[in-house]
Amino acid sequence: MGANDNMRAMRLHEAGGNFRLDEIPRPRVERSTDVVLRVRASGIVPNLRNVMSNYGDRAYLTVPDLPAIYGLDFAGIVKEVGRDVKGLVEGDRVYVNPGRSCGNCHACRLGERISCEAFTFQGYFGFGPGSKEIYRSYPYGGLCEYATAPADGLVKLPAEVSFEQAARFGYMGTAYSGLRKAGVGPGRTVLLSGGTGTLGLCAVQIARAMGATKILCVARNEANLARVRSLDPQRIRTFSYGSGSLREWAYKETGGLGVDAVVDAIGPGASHQVTLDCISSLRRGARLVEIGAMSDPMPVNMHELMCAQVSLIGSLWFTVAEGQDLADMVAAGTLDLSVFEHHAYPLEEANEALADAERRAGGFVNVVVVQ
Ligand SMILES: [Zn+2]
Repeated sequence: MGANDNMRAMRLHEAGGNFRLDEIPRPRVERSTDVVLRVRASGIVPNLRNVMSNYGDRAYLTVPDLPAIYGLDFAGIVKEVGRDVKGLVEGDRVYVNPGRSCGNCHACRLGERISCEAFTFQGYFGFGPGSKEIYRSYPYGGLCEYATAPADGLVKLPAEVSFEQAARFGYMGTAYSGLRKAGVGPGRTVLLSGGTGTLGLCAVQIARAMGATKILCVARNEANLARVRSLDPQRIRTFSYGSGSLREWAYKETGGLGVDAVVDAIGPGASHQVTLDCISSLRRGARLVEIGAMSDPMPVNMHELMCAQVSLIGSLWFTVAEGQDLADMVAAGTLDLSVFEHHAYPLEEANEALADAERRAGGFVNVVVVQ
């Protein structure tokens, strides 16, 4: 095997450890419907540290066997295509939607891939025992030079989307799918809870692109709120949580109607009271979509929800089609990704990149490993 048959990979060898730079065989196309791409950028999410510790007694998710190549959101250039791949050629720029499904369970048969009992994020974690099998087929995350992916898991990137921006698509797509389920669009008001964070800022930009009439952004940090408001002073209103009654503010901003939709993007550690206050800000018939990881158990009055016809919806990740929508919105000039400040690290500094992401500097910072 010559030097060109190998590649560099930052791999995790022990639970809770750091990545180590290894030289391993470079992947080739094995299935006729797969592609091999040269990875150019991989997003780094703060929760990755928790997943890397999730082995042995601490296991609550299905993670790849060690040594493992992590890296959830990656993008690159197609280098090799399987003989049954149509519509993609060497040199195409693509984002890999890492969501993999088994293809054979009840949900998969219904076409609901994200609800697959073995739904698995390539380069991250999976939701069922069947995820182990998926990792055997797709063991590559974004922290290596070459990776395999199924052709139908790829989003084609127009020239207007940089690889660094594409490494943000996990957050972007999660926000977009939530906004769609919430019915956001022209004539609608949406309240974004956690609106200055990584998911929240994506939701702000996409809600603008989707034509939302008014975007009510709720967070705590005044400086970050002011920065978000400056993106679109005509449509964005901000509220610092704790500075008064969220419900009263939301009703005032909507002329007494209440908001059409809430997209809740607050993370673990937040109080359920924030989400309850959001629910009380909804008009009759409205929806709240949960895309954050608010883990505080919440007492909900189902009688009130029933009477007001309010829906609470959980939303995980996004489809390849939704990812393609985002790429095309950027190309059309309706979705602006220029707001992100990229903190770029070379592959061998993936540990430093993760430490940077764990500082959670807010939604404007995009920590990314570039090659
Ligand atoms: Zn399935």
